[in-house]
Amino acid sequence: MPSEKAKDNKALIATCAACQKSFSTEIMVALTGCEDGKRRQYPVCVACADEGWRPPGFSGLYRSRST
Ligand SMILES: [Zn+2]
Repeated sequence: MPSEKAKDNKALIATCAACQKSFSTEIMVALTGCEDGKRRQYPVCVACADEGWRPPGFSGLYRSRST
């Protein structure tokens, strides 16, 4: 039988800050940018991050979510 826990562990959805499409957070990364002088995390899909999209005021590393 398939595990019931696997169903409960469904992925969250977030909107990519670059292309405005919704993706599973499993294929997104959080890039740190700056908005109105405050540091902010921008969720971006891996495809956009790999294409070089960076948030305004980006000051950090392209960090993979994989842990
Ligand atoms: Zn994207």
